[in-house]
Amino acid sequence: MAFYVQKYGGTSVGSTERIKNVARRVARFYNQGHQIIVVVSAMSGETNRLITLAHEVQESPDPRELDVMVSTGEQVSIALLAMALKALNVKAKSYTGSQVKILTDSAFTKARILDIESNHIRADLDNGYVVIVAGFQGIDEKGNITTLGRGGSDTTGVALAAALKADECQIYTDVDGIYTTDPRVVPEARRLASITFEEMLEMASLGSKVLQIRSVEFAGKYKVKLRVLSSFEEEGEGTLITFEEDGNMEQPVISGIAFNRDEAKITVLGVPDHPGVAYQILGPVADVNIDVDMIIQNVSHDDLTDFSFTVHRNDFKKTMNIIREKIQPHIGARDVIGGDRIAKVSVVGVGMRSHAGIASEMFRVLAEEGINIQMIATSEIKVSVVVDEKYMELAVRVLHKAFNLEQAL
Ligand code: ADP
Ligand code: ASP
Ligand code: MG
Repeated sequence: MAFYVQKYGGTSVGSTERIKNVARRVARFYNQGHQIIVVVSAMSGETNRLITLAHEVQESPDPRELDVMVSTGEQVSIALLAMALKALNVKAKSYTGSQVKILTDSAFTKARILDIESNHIRADLDNGYVVIVAGFQGIDEKGNITTLGRGGSDTTGVALAAALKADECQIYTDVDGIYTTDPRVVPEARRLASITFEEMLEMASLGSKVLQIRSVEFAGKYKVKLRVLSSFEEEGEGTLITFEEDGNMEQPVISGIAFNRDEAKITVLGVPDHPGVAYQILGPVADVNIDVDMIIQNVSHDDLTDFSFTVHRNDFKKTMNIIREKIQPHIGARDVIGGDRIAKVSVVGVGMRSHAGIASEMFRVLAEEGINIQMIATSEIKVSVVVDEKYMELAVRVLHKAFNLEQAL
């Protein structure tokens, strides 16, 4: 007998027919004698629909109220799945995040899980129930409903698996595992039998939304056995996230390509080039909890330099305002320009021993296609470039081919 946490995403519970399919799959595991916690997302499209409604009423929806609203999507799914399981004569009980209680901080729309009360869930499991938990939501210490950020049901799944020490956390989705890149963009992408935790963390942080990054962080911190599988196929091993490199296997240099359109670039022109300027620009941005990703500072001419950085697109306007109103006059910069039509494309691999070689190959391939690189960032296991958004898919496709990711190992 094993103990699984199974998470089913929006597409997998996108209709009542699909919910019944999920129930049949869960019932099969249950009838084999396994203990199961099921975490579900809202039905596909529902979270977007709710967010759109909120924007129709308030330009920047109040974050607390937004969480009250978007958390309802998952509440519908848990009840429907419980009913579908009962219809199959499986004992099942659904819980919202606050009923569990999944305690989070109070950062509405991007809350972090602090603690999970596991006693009554454990008791339910021991009494033969399938326990169904709403993904993506929690409650803060004052009793406010919170949500965990887009894709947050993955994190609910992994956090429950960690808190209750499940044997495996299975993320069921609409693809049958982690691919070398998003198979929707590159149909030739190849499923990976396994991927190291570091690579998965990097892929997720660089835009591969197949797993929410915090779920990968949780898996790493608590050593949760994490697997991504298809909810539409009966069989398949999916992709296992591993914590050790397989010493016997020849590590491929590049494991995957990630991309994201979520960033915007801001450039402060004609900044006096003296110590403390980077801090003067980015300090006030950090003070309001806006994360800065890539940063570039050019060589100075006549003691003036240009300073560019990227932030999440959602923070673009706010950051532009801060820089224009507070910083530009203060430091005497000539101008501030920005745009959100950029995309970041990254190649990732723990086998990337010398990233200089990988970077130059990447630049050559992009140059051949006439794709201009606006920014570059490297770490031990990745090289990222910022390009014009309209070249993103082309860049991903040519890099995927150039690094031989299509071929079977
Ligand atoms: P769910 O609703 O089940 O949480 P998501 O849409 O969040 O599903 O994640 C699955 C999607 O992630 C896939 O349909 C695929 O388009 C996308 N994706 C992006 N990068 C990858 C990758 N490297 N491997 C597999 N899927 C990826
Ligand atoms: N329903 C939420 C979303 O669409 C959470 C999730 O699906 O993981 O982002
Ligand atoms: Mg998801």
